[in-house]
Amino acid sequence: MRAAVLTQINKPLQILNLDQDPPKSKEVRVRVKAAGVCMSDWHIMNGDWPLPLPMVLGHEAAGIILENGPGVENVKPGDHVIFSFRPHCGRCRYCSSGQTVLCIGHNDTPRWRMHDGTARVKLNGEPVNQMARIGTFSEEVVCPAEQIVKVRDDLPFTHAAIIGCSVATGIGAVTRHARVAAGSSVLVVGCGGVGLNVVQGTRLVGASPIIACDLRDNKLDYAKNFGATHTINAVTGNVLERVREMTEGLGVDYAFDAIGSEQTALQVIDAVAPGGRAVLVGIPAFATRAPINPSQIVYGEKVISGTYYGSVRPSIDFPILADLDLGKRINLDALISRTYQFDEINEGFALMLAGEVARGVIVFD
Ligand SMILES: [Zn+2]
Ligand SMILES: [Zn+2]
Repeated sequence: MRAAVLTQINKPLQILNLDQDPPKSKEVRVRVKAAGVCMSDWHIMNGDWPLPLPMVLGHEAAGIILENGPGVENVKPGDHVIFSFRPHCGRCRYCSSGQTVLCIGHNDTPRWRMHDGTARVKLNGEPVNQMARIGTFSEEVVCPAEQIVKVRDDLPFTHAAIIGCSVATGIGAVTRHARVAAGSSVLVVGCGGVGLNVVQGTRLVGASPIIACDLRDNKLDYAKNFGATHTINAVTGNVLERVREMTEGLGVDYAFDAIGSEQTALQVIDAVAPGGRAVLVGIPAFATRAPINPSQIVYGEKVISGTYYGSVRPSIDFPILADLDLGKRINLDALISRTYQFDEINEGFALMLAGEVARGVIVFD
């Protein structure tokens, strides 16, 4: 079984042959068919998120169930499935209240090991961690069945893969978290894989105007394709001034930070109108801090909120996103601007960092 392993930060991924144990109780084995290249993997590769290595990276993927361990009831061999990168114990206070991305049911074991604390993949007999307990840059994955969602068979695997992270995070931020009403004005800062999905989420719910902001014109062209009515290049334009010009001086009802940095967090807070909401979507480096202006929050009755994974409930929302895709209500084809063979994985990261792709997806034979 080949998998892309990070053995040291600031080094390329290595595709290595690993030994894999069969699924234990309530675990499944999945043949991976497609896996997206995401900035979250890069945050681990560059040390922004210091996590124990070696680790199989990858968390945005889809495949086919090969084998069920004892006690698995939600899927069967042959099912087409999407991986969720969050656990879903079904019993904790958050699962019980429908906020499954906040599940705390397995906080007693590391989130890169199975729920019994052991590893299913090994290199020369030594355990190898799996990112988010899945580690999907891998020909096959053994993981907890609760992180697997069955989807319809006619959904292309490349589309299914990106539903598992960037599509759920971006569209969910709009529809599940912020619940943007039709006619609301919105700003989306950052037009990468997540940001473009925020843009098309705001189009889906009928927001207007939809203002997209990025540092690169090619990303802004993508954003127009996904529904942006106005664009701002933050290199050449003053973002706050331009937003106010476009919104009768007030600012926007909703502003989304799809980057996750000090600067962009402050930008979205400043850009919302009185009574508006700034939504933090992109995950910053753990050490990031941002000095907000509390009086502006008070006088303006502004709301700042964070959304993790678009606040989706994967078992409910992944099939809905699949239906929206196949019903042509959202566009996933145009998001997947490049596909790669598994051996080209490091090129996938290079092109993502160069801003050359909307989303790159690795396709497994
Ligand atoms: Zn991701
Ligand atoms: Zn739970």
